Amino acid sequence: MRKQLLSSVKRIVIKIGSRVLTDADGALDMTVIGSICCDIAHLRRQGFQVVVVSSGAIAAGRSELGLTEKPRTIPHKQAAAAVGQTRLMRAYEQALSPHDIKAAQILLTSEDLGSRQRFLNARATLDALLGFGIVPIINENDTVVVDEIKFGDNDNLSALVTNVAEADLLLILTDIEGFYSADPHTDPTARLIPLVTGVTREVERAAGGSGSAVGTGGMATKVAAAKKAGKNGVATIMVCGKRHGIVAAAMCGDDVGTLFLPSGEAVNRRKHWIAYTLKPSGRIVVDEGARSVVLKKGTSLLPSGVIRVEGRFERGASVRVCGNDGIEFARGLSDYSSAEITRIAGCKSAEIEERLGFHYGDVVIHRDNLVLI
Ligand code: GLU
Repeated sequence: MRKQLLSSVKRIVIKIGSRVLTDADGALDMTVIGSICCDIAHLRRQGFQVVVVSSGAIAAGRSELGLTEKPRTIPHKQAAAAVGQTRLMRAYEQALSPHDIKAAQILLTSEDLGSRQRFLNARATLDALLGFGIVPIINENDTVVVDEIKFGDNDNLSALVTNVAEADLLLILTDIEGFYSADPHTDPTARLIPLVTGVTREVERAAGGSGSAVGTGGMATKVAAAKKAGKNGVATIMVCGKRHGIVAAAMCGDDVGTLFLPSGEAVNRRKHWIAYTLKPSGRIVVDEGARSVVLKKGTSLLPSGVIRVEGRFERGASVRVCGNDGIEFARGLSDYSSAEITRIAGCKSAEIEERLGFHYGDVVIHRDNLVLI
């Protein structure tokens, strides 16, 4: 099954975590980086295009700054990232150059990808770099972001990059063999699961996500990334990046690590951007009738079904759409501001102009801008 899946893959995003890239002392591990880059060269010879999302800037900077512990304050993390990012790029350049491959650095913030124009610019740049045969190496622009506006983590960033890069596969390199039924560090009965056919609530629970007390060391964010990539129709393979030759093995279809298949209907790339890259700035709470018609028929959201609005947002903002139980079931771009929706909530579309004195259209969220979650 893996071989068949891989036969239609051309462009891959490889996400490499800090723990894979660093040794026990927290310094960049050139043996591991060398081995991964050797595999990347092998993939390139086979015709794959490779985009790397790499962590490791803060870890590399920490040892350069002589810090004995992980930096805690934001300015210290940012300083470490600033020093470490150049070391990280130098390490990739050193490891790729014997294979005659050049690397390019791309640093992104969630605000960059939240702007449709900058998102499309990033896509065009990636396309151009890949056309030149260069390996783009992407990281978050840590020096300018603070926690509130971060992507969250590079697992999330890598899932978003599958959309930016229009990739066919996400390969996550981590420090354990794959996805386990429980935390393998603490539970001797934990089994490696080779195939996940869809990220269900049980899978999220086993990963330490919603509702579970057992965290499996960063597994929740990886499973969330696989789910997001899946919504784009992209499969994810998670393997232990410390193993020599693992990237090449995974890409030739060997049964290593865990394969996550995309489940459910994939949404188009623009809708994926609306649902997962944009940060929602408010909530529109709707009645059961509106919820059911949007869910079953995929219609636009009309003002008549709106009960209330939470938060303040402008026309064009990304918003969550929730039932009266508070559970989000869709996300979309609002055609009206929060203040305007409050005034037209519950009314018929024909009454919008009378209530507001103007009219942008009959719907609160058009179905082309509405994504079921
Ligand atoms: N951007 C961070 C770094 O390069 C890593 C963030 C993450 O791994 O989630 O150190």
